[in-house]
Amino acid sequence: MIAQKTKYIFVTGGVTSSLGKGIISSSLAKLLQARGLSVTILKLDPYINVDPGTLNPYEHGECYVTVDGAETDLDLGHYERFLNVSTSQANNVTTGQVYQSVINKERKGDYLGKTVQIIPHITDEIKRRIKYLGSKGKYDVLITEIGGTVGDIESLPYIESVRQLKWELDDRVLVVHLTLVPYLSAAGELKTKPTQHSVKMLLEEGVQPDVLVLRSEKDLGRDIRRKVALFCNVHERAVIQSKDVSTIYEVPLKMYKEKLDEIVLDKLNLTNIQKPELEQWKEFVNKVKQPARTVRIGLIGKYVELKDSYKSISEAFVHAGASNNCKVELEFIHSENLEEDGWENKLTGLKGLLVAPGFGHRGIEGKINAVKFARENDIAFFGICLGMQCAVIEFARNVLGLKDANSIEMDSKTPYPVIDIMEEQKDITNMGGTMRLGLYNCTIEKNSKMAKAYGELNVKERHRHRYEYNNEYQSAFAESGMIATGINPDSNLVEAMEITKHKWFVGVQFHPEYQSTVVRPHPLFVNFVQASLK
Ligand code: GLN
Repeated sequence: MIAQKTKYIFVTGGVTSSLGKGIISSSLAKLLQARGLSVTILKLDPYINVDPGTLNPYEHGECYVTVDGAETDLDLGHYERFLNVSTSQANNVTTGQVYQSVINKERKGDYLGKTVQIIPHITDEIKRRIKYLGSKGKYDVLITEIGGTVGDIESLPYIESVRQLKWELDDRVLVVHLTLVPYLSAAGELKTKPTQHSVKMLLEEGVQPDVLVLRSEKDLGRDIRRKVALFCNVHERAVIQSKDVSTIYEVPLKMYKEKLDEIVLDKLNLTNIQKPELEQWKEFVNKVKQPARTVRIGLIGKYVELKDSYKSISEAFVHAGASNNCKVELEFIHSENLEEDGWENKLTGLKGLLVAPGFGHRGIEGKINAVKFARENDIAFFGICLGMQCAVIEFARNVLGLKDANSIEMDSKTPYPVIDIMEEQKDITNMGGTMRLGLYNCTIEKNSKMAKAYGELNVKERHRHRYEYNNEYQSAFAESGMIATGINPDSNLVEAMEITKHKWFVGVQFHPEYQSTVVRPHPLFVNFVQASLK
């Protein structure tokens, strides 16, 4: 169904960050989608960076890339994995983008001499971007997740925009507020005060939440719900509990049990909506929770202290694991630790090795060591972006005997630049949004591991890089058994390299992890896990 007028749901968070607004938004979206509604999610990020492309992953986790080449917040990855629908640049707005547009308009003279202010000019720009997605006629419901925590200075203009939209659009707007109900073991009690305070803060900013989702470790009894309802002016049935679960994919099922979707539909006057179709989802969750076996795979990267740095890769392994009826136990290994004596010991017992994407020279030799280990010991190997580049460097040095072969990114004076800067990147000096980004075609070589995995010879995958395989070396590599099995038909850039005489050794220049979803696990991950199980 496409309603005549899009309904707007806002998801705010209180008490603390990391409560899982992204998962609650995705889960609610999933339930509405499963009821036949067309839904998308927008993320508003209160930082001043124009996009997270220039951010170190340690700041906010991985940078997610959309089909249209936008560098975005990792929550968009959750939206796509849950909904199996592509997002775009329009699904992620940052304070940096908002200010940039307003300042550009001011410079052009568009404000006709007026003083440019947060209200109304910044809030108008925020509202314009929210309504832009809603006005496309494509969505029954637009869920907008507001980053940060209520009470932060940074998020004030966003909350103010919600206040204004609630006033303007009236019953087409609904606010879901997510908070924490901590359990104090000394008192043996669940505490609602932080929730009360956080709702008060939202009220001070002019917004009355319609639904409260309370995150907690323990079950909330009827009394707690009644108390929260009374103090926060919400109906008792609109106080929803979100108890910790072992997999994020279970959250939609829990929210369904709590009737979150039903309450939302009622409040938005969406009537005659079918019951959600969740059988396939339940089957997937069962597989995740009750795997028939496990397989240990090493993920080698340099941002491993923060697991969110590799969010899409970890999730792709959950999807691929389920489709292989197994659980992938991912072991995060810091690439610098593979540069010390005895590094081989850190890889023993692992059935597959994945060398992760990344930038800069730190830890690069450790990654190259990991490739060598996988190649020489016939261990399933998967290299993604920088991971593929490391595989190429390792092969050049240790098989072709090209001493000191390297990527121009790591050593601009290498005698053998097997990975070179892309032609169109040579004159670029700005860092933001300038890489080769987004979806590109890839033509696959027949009878390759790539072809076997995909089951087709023309695919499209997402990219984020400045360097590429140096085609001058193709014949030397091929003669020694490492061949290019994926090529971009338009630019001739190599998109995939594999070693023929190896159980499973594939490196890809693109990022397959961004396209793996619950209903469409990525074929390369599925095949890599399968090979690791053998
Ligand atoms: N640093 C490499 C490049 O820019 C790889 C990038 C990546 O792994 N995303 O080409």
